[in-house]
Amino acid sequence: MAACKRLLAALALCGGVASAQAAEPVVVYSSRIDELIKPVFDAYTQRTGVEVKFITDKEAPLMQRIKAEGENAKADLLLTVDAGNLWQAEQMGILQPLQSPVIDANIPPQYRAASHAWTGLSLRARTIAYSTERVKPQELSTYEALADKPWEGRLCLRTAKKVYNQSLTATLIETHGAEQAERVLKGWVNNLSTDVFSDDIAVLQAIAAGQCDVGIVNSYYYGRLHKDNPALPVKLYWPNQQDRGVHVNLSGIGLTRYAPHPEAAKALVEWMTGPEAQAIFASVNQEFPANPAVAPSAEVASWGSFKADTLPVEVAGKRQAEAIRMMDRAAWN
Ligand code: FE
Repeated sequence: MAACKRLLAALALCGGVASAQAAEPVVVYSSRIDELIKPVFDAYTQRTGVEVKFITDKEAPLMQRIKAEGENAKADLLLTVDAGNLWQAEQMGILQPLQSPVIDANIPPQYRAASHAWTGLSLRARTIAYSTERVKPQELSTYEALADKPWEGRLCLRTAKKVYNQSLTATLIETHGAEQAERVLKGWVNNLSTDVFSDDIAVLQAIAAGQCDVGIVNSYYYGRLHKDNPALPVKLYWPNQQDRGVHVNLSGIGLTRYAPHPEAAKALVEWMTGPEAQAIFASVNQEFPANPAVAPSAEVASWGSFKADTLPVEVAGKRQAEAIRMMDRAAWN
């Protein structure tokens, strides 16, 4: 009888723990918009019964909010784009390491923070886009070559204020050293056909409209425009295939320093790096899964495969300040 009581007590305890875990939600602050995150969170809730609450905003206010909330944290996870932003979050002290053999097995090390403060979830190539009417792909080769004479007055770029270009510049500095990287930047600025644009879509539209012949954009923007207009006279080109490969950046997620539900958050991130979530998360924004065992969508695969730069993407953060100063010196606005 006593043993039975103990057993009942143990069962009640186990049941209690299990239901408490099931009831515990995960809270995500996301700079990715609703339509890009909701499908994956809905799938998680369907599988596990765990609710995922999220708010969306730009990355800077979200990071400030996590910092301001401090130990009274509401958010378990920060989801944002670009290793430059994730690195900034880590520098602000608002993330903590998330140790997980599951994440380590799912995501290659170059797409994670060495400190385990964040992991990539999806990948985007920041690559060359060209006019199919005025450029033959054989004329293209590398990012660096866009600084050369043949491209004078033919290049379109987005503003240097965008972290995507700061990260690309950071990898140029890491690869070539400051002197050569600055020469490349000055060559690009010298080859501009017009003022810099505020976004990548505008760069692609300028190429389509004949305002310039080549540009540098994130692959998913091409995907969006091409979906709306399959006759778009613009294609993506994969540069630097004979040397370091294409610059790849990511969207990623990190556990907040004072996460109220760290175990539930860890379980969600582990699931998000696995096959089911990876397929959904990457395809909603026409990105590449960060888990190499998962195939990209048919649409993304149709752009062709390429060799990606194997530099750890956190270089984008480490050299961000240096990159911004260099872009300024090169008069890249
Ligand atoms: Fe973007």
